Amino acid sequence: MDLTLPAEDLAWQARARTFAETVLFPHELALELDGALPQTTKDSLRDAVVEHGLNAINHARDVGGQGCTQFQQTLVNEELGKSTGALWAVAWHPAVALKHGTPAQIRDYLTPSCLGRRRACVAVTEPDAGSDTGLIRTSASRHGGGYLLSGEKWFVTSADAADYIIVHALVDGDPARPTLFLVDSDAAGITVKREPKFTHTYVFGHRDLVFDAVAVDGDRVLGGVGQGLELTKDWFVEARLQIAANCLGASIRAFELANAWASKRVQFGVPIRRHQAIEFMLADMAVEIMAAKSMIYRVAWQIDQKIDRKVAHAHASVIKLHASEMAGRVLDKAVQIFGGRGYMRENAVERLSRDVRVDRIWEGTSEIQRAIIGRQLSKRGPRLFTGWHR
Ligand SMILES: Cc1cc2nc3c(=O)[nH]c(=O)nc-3n(C[C@H](O)[C@H](O)[C@H](O)COP(=O)(O)OP(=O)(O)OC[C@H]3O[C@@H](n4cnc5c(N)ncnc54)[C@H](O)[C@@H]3O)c2cc1C
Repeated sequence: MDLTLPAEDLAWQARARTFAETVLFPHELALELDGALPQTTKDSLRDAVVEHGLNAINHARDVGGQGCTQFQQTLVNEELGKSTGALWAVAWHPAVALKHGTPAQIRDYLTPSCLGRRRACVAVTEPDAGSDTGLIRTSASRHGGGYLLSGEKWFVTSADAADYIIVHALVDGDPARPTLFLVDSDAAGITVKREPKFTHTYVFGHRDLVFDAVAVDGDRVLGGVGQGLELTKDWFVEARLQIAANCLGASIRAFELANAWASKRVQFGVPIRRHQAIEFMLADMAVEIMAAKSMIYRVAWQIDQKIDRKVAHAHASVIKLHASEMAGRVLDKAVQIFGGRGYMRENAVERLSRDVRVDRIWEGTSEIQRAIIGRQLSKRGPRLFTGWHR
């Protein structure tokens, strides 16, 4: 078995590392202390993403993306995940559902999004529908040749940076026909209800949006009427892999910083790493990171080998659950090793400790990942998790 990383994959890793360290890290403190970046900075970051060839790593070259394998995407997301304030989000990943667009939708939405000329946000969650998407009520009533969308969507990440919204709605209010719609952000009838503050500092906003009889043309249905949930599932697999890789990167950065600090900081006459309590924390962090990395790389590689879609779905839940909980444990130890300095916002470890908290909540909470894994276990048996697929 050869686990050597191919030169091409190493080149993607190096490219992403350079981008994170030279382009993203320098903006971290200003973002944290000011709470936002000026638009001119965001524009220059967008240009830098294209200059470094990190736009749309998740889409094929013929539609304007970079054509990366899942494994290469994982290496890139790990490096970008080291940045704080979710600066990794400046490198856009147009929603995977756009691959199912018509030729006109690919021309008008997917390709410009890959090239950085357009940007989407995704609106699924509602005030009464979070983990349980069966409670979604936003409706798309047929009207002439198109639809009128009405409802309320919460937590819409990057809505402030997006010029169109992928909205999950029920055609004629029918739960059997969940459907995705491409809706321009400036369409009449869309209002921003509020933009709450969250635990993390995030480079873009998370808005609550109200749709009041928003007219949408019939040709803006993405992937067919009734396909909303299926397309959202594919999106979850990709997003969960991205979260796992981001968590891995965040943990590695915090571990390296804490390890260096433990060598430098002297208390009671010795570097603090010589106190066994600290040494054991570092040892546990090393083990956690090594285990998570092995799992994440394995699943990304398996997906490139075209494993069964349901196996991929189950394994994406496993690594999202494990990596996000691992990151919480590692970050907590990193803060502890820094002592009071670990509680200062100017310390990347402090910022990362807040950043990774949401990874146990979005794209399916830890409890929902356990429910998915548990269901698959009873349907397909333990070998789904204990066996070796390919
Ligand atoms: C910062 C941020 C950004 C987000 N961005 C987006 C976005 O861009 N687009 C979007 O559509 N959504 C977005 N979300 C929403 C996110 O996906 C939801 O918050 C998440 O799915 C959980 O839903 P909820 O918050 O309504 O919690 P709930 O579903 O109300 O859950 C509350 C608690 O109950 C538990 N629970 C629920 N059901 C079960 C069960 N069956 N078994 C055991 N426990 C259960 C949950 O695990 C949780 O602990 C974002 C959220 C945040 C915080």
